[in-house]
Amino acid sequence: MAEKPFNELTPAEVERLSMLAEEAGEIVQAVGKILRHGYGSCHPVTKVHNGCALGEEIEDFFRIAGHLKACGDVDFAETVFDNGLGKKAKYMHHLYDETGCD
Ligand SMILES: [Mg+2]
Repeated sequence: MAEKPFNELTPAEVERLSMLAEEAGEIVQAVGKILRHGYGSCHPVTKVHNGCALGEEIEDFFRIAGHLKACGDVDFAETVFDNGLGKKAKYMHHLYDETGCD
């Protein structure tokens, strides 16, 4: 019988967390490319625009996050996109209107 891991995570929980971390890393990478080259720049080989790449990675992240929620690993409000910036608004330097966009 296999020894129980110190963190008591099941192999499935480890896989889900690994996938979440991977997607979070891909978001960081996509943001870095936008900061260096802009939203409109694109990958020289794939021709995918940086803004599109970021959107895809955000979607990937929320798909995995939703799976963690469905599996009971974590809980968060499903209305996260419906409530605007919420408590994050007070930390923004460039908040032009209720959308936070310029
Ligand atoms: Mg991805």
